[in-house]
Order: sequence, then structure tokens, then C-alpha cells
Amino acid sequence: MNKIKKNRHVFIMDKDHPPALKVKSGSLVTFETYDCFQNQITREDQSMETLDWDHINPATGPLFIEEAEPGDVLKIEIQRIAVNAYGVIAAIPEAGLMGDQVQTSTIKVLPIKGDKVIFNENIRLPLEPMIGVIGVAPEEEGVPCGTPGAHGGNMDNKKIQEGTTLFLPIYAKGALLSMGDLHGAMGDGEVMVSGVEVGGEVTVQVEVLKVESINNPILENSEYFYTIASHKELLEAVKIATRDMQKLVMKELDLSFNEAGMLLSAAGNAEICQVVDPLVTARFGFPKYLMKKIL
Ligand code: CA
Ligand code: ZN
Repeated sequence: MNKIKKNRHVFIMDKDHPPALKVKSGSLVTFETYDCFQNQITREDQSMETLDWDHINPATGPLFIEEAEPGDVLKIEIQRIAVNAYGVIAAIPEAGLMGDQVQTSTIKVLPIKGDKVIFNENIRLPLEPMIGVIGVAPEEEGVPCGTPGAHGGNMDNKKIQEGTTLFLPIYAKGALLSMGDLHGAMGDGEVMVSGVEVGGEVTVQVEVLKVESINNPILENSEYFYTIASHKELLEAVKIATRDMQKLVMKELDLSFNEAGMLLSAAGNAEICQVVDPLVTARFGFPKYLMKKIL
């Protein structure tokens, strides 16, 4: 079985990094991952200030896929996400949308039992595992794993779940896929900067597509296609994701610019992934009952 252990990880996605594993297109690969704090938090009485902040957002990898050449598209079928028995979440001064009012940091260690995350005695959340960080080597210089972009990275898109398929542009030979930062649950926005941060294992099937290149990530689940875009400004991120989808809809459904725009306006959804990372991320969802394929 192809497996990359969590000790093989990077903090920057970079085309110059040596591969942790080389496989052929079509292979199944399991990535064992740390949580975003590199499993440094195990108790609620720990202080955030004692963490080693140079070890945040490790991404397991990179995986080199032999057929991958710049300009190709990497198809990643997320077949399984298994998470560990507890997750952690934090409130950190100056972090996130309420950080200006957080006086001291607080940590919660949340047991995961069956299909529930135990927030406290009275509050349980459904376990909805997702991948926060997943990306390939970017086109230019390396990008820290905490930053999202056209190459993927820290998109914190809660729709990247088991059973979905992610398409990423390939910029480097071998693509160099890495992932980490699993969440047991996360709301759109990730407003306090952490979800239910958890280590675990992800099994994916990777396939190199020799098709027209894409300029941003695309996601597919059972009901929707999503274009995904990251930018400094939220409105710009929403615009890029929307315009990317419009182009695809014009082509696939043979519609004019105005008609495709009307259909997006009538049936598509502009949604927020996260608003707390160095760039913010938006997605635009278009229903599959109106469009059978996207690439
Ligand atoms: Ca994240
Ligand atoms: Zn995270």
C-alpha cells in the first residue's frame, strides 16, 4: 500500500522539495496527517503562548505523480477521511473576527465519539471531517502551507470531504501534492481561525488529466460543482470564483455571456470558505442537475 507517514511533511509548498513518495497516475495513496498545531496541544491547561509557532500547518508529502507535467490537471478523489479520537479548538487574542475582544487564549480538547464531536456536556456536533490544507507546488516561489492560492493550500473549504473530487492545476513536474489540517467540523468562515483541528488519515486516488489547464481549484461533490478562489479581498475572491464558473457554464451549456450569468444568478450559490487566513477563500457552487460535467 502507498502510504506517506506524517513525519514526511512540509511547511511550504514548493516545486524544489524532494518527493516523499513517487507513484503512477491512478494510484491510491494514504496520507497520515498531524493536526494544524502538529499535535502540540493535548491538554486544556496548556497555553497557546508556549506553542512552537514555527511548526504550524504541516502538510504531509509531497507526493510526486510520474505523468504530471505543468499545464495538466490533477484529479484527486477523496475516498476516505479518518480522524483521531480528539480534536482541539482555540480562542486566540487578535486572531479571527472576534480576536480584538479575546483577552487570554483558551483551548478546548474535544473528544470525538462515533459520529459526534463532544463540545461540552450539553453540546454535541455532527462529525463532518474535511481537509483544510491540500495543494500542489505553486507556479512561482514557495507558498507557506497556511496560505491558500491557485495551487490549493489552506483553502479551509468545508466542502472538501470524503466522497468529493478536487481538481488542481499542475505547475511543477510530478505535481507535488501535500495535505494536512483536517477538521472534525468547521463552519463556513472559520471565524475564530480554528475548526475542530484533528490529526488523521486521508486516502485519495490521484489521476493526471491531459486536458485544457485550469487556473484555480475546482471541486465536485454529489450535487454541485464548485470553483474556488482566494484573494486578499473577499469580494474579489467571490468575483473570481463566479467568473470562473461562468466561463465553464458558457462552454459546457453553450450559452452566451449574459445567459450564463443569468443562470448563475438564478441557480448558483456564491459562498464563503474562510475569512481568516492570509488570503480569504470563496467558492461558487453550480448544481449538477443543470450541468453534467465541468472539465
Ligand atoms: Ca486551516
Ligand atoms: Zn485547521
